[in-house]
Amino acid sequence: MIAAAYDTKPYDRQYLQAAAEGAGIEWRFWEFRLSEATAGTARGAGAVCVFVNDRLDRACLDALAREGVRHIALRCAGFNNVDLVAAKELGLTVTRVPAYSPHAVAEHAVALLLALNRKIHRAFNRVRELNFSLHGLVGFDLHGKTAGVIGTGKIGRVAAQILRGFGMRVLAHDPFPDADWAAAHGIEYADVRVLARESDVISLHLPLTPETRHMIRAETIELMKPGAILINVSRGALIDTGALIAALKTGRLGGVGLDVYEEEEGIFFEDLSGEILQDDTLARLLTFPNVLITSHQAFLTREALQEIAQTTVANLRALDAGLPFIEGSQIQ
Ligand code: NAD
Repeated sequence: MIAAAYDTKPYDRQYLQAAAEGAGIEWRFWEFRLSEATAGTARGAGAVCVFVNDRLDRACLDALAREGVRHIALRCAGFNNVDLVAAKELGLTVTRVPAYSPHAVAEHAVALLLALNRKIHRAFNRVRELNFSLHGLVGFDLHGKTAGVIGTGKIGRVAAQILRGFGMRVLAHDPFPDADWAAAHGIEYADVRVLARESDVISLHLPLTPETRHMIRAETIELMKPGAILINVSRGALIDTGALIAALKTGRLGGVGLDVYEEEEGIFFEDLSGEILQDDTLARLLTFPNVLITSHQAFLTREALQEIAQTTVANLRALDAGLPFIEGSQIQ
């Protein structure tokens, strides 16, 4: 079976190729993203394998169905970039990788927090310039402070447990709280407003849906403690970037660590170092000394890449062979 894989980089190809060995899958790798404009390249493929910034709107799905594609295999957990209503109407099966090393993503969130709080990004540049001054590098002890974890699914739980390990009080919020897990780890569930008011650090670990879009906006930021650090490794549009910039300009936030950005499509994952950045909002964000941005790399560990590739291949084979998908993979 031919599977057309989009937005693939050398590291994706390496792991997908290895996982498909002897599995009867012939990869057709493309570097560009899948959208209505590029869907014609799926001709002859039974499945497409896509990532977070491929755009599978109705027009794209229509074109894929016309080309004979039956299966959309996401090689990520989130699926906010697929029009599921249209996919259902067109009879397309949609699968994802429901879990792949939640540790990879949670550890990256904590890496951003530690770097921001202790100003490692600034210290690194300074020392390379032989500037050994400590001026402006004062952080705070995480021990004894309060962390707010919004979303206690697979990744949020690992993040909460790591933060507990630092000796932080951890407040959590989730529409489906797990009281046993919280009790076992000394974590308290709280109303999201209480969490916002009491936390020195807030980390987002919930999916992007119409309900959660811009959950961090001017009113929410207003509730937060002055000097609080906000971390987002989930999806960019959970935060209203305009409101975030306004708050950063007043100095209200202590730091912001972002692995995702509302308008990351076409920017993140690409080497634009020789080009003129056209996104003025991102350009403004990059000017703040207390903002640390990575380019959607929280998943990028050897373990996660291997699990992503293996689950994706298992799902591709399952549809072909009429076997069940890996548990939790089938979205429809
Ligand atoms: P999960 O489904 O295991 O957990 C998500 C949790 O969020 C669930 O417990 C759910 O009840 C909760 N939730 C839903 N709506 C909420 C709300 N309004 N308020 C609070 N909680 C809410 O998902 P996961 O595997 O932990 O992944 C979380 C998100 O991380 C994914 O949706 C994805 O967007 C993101 N992610 C990012 C990367 C990266 O590389 N940056 C990698 C993997 C996943």
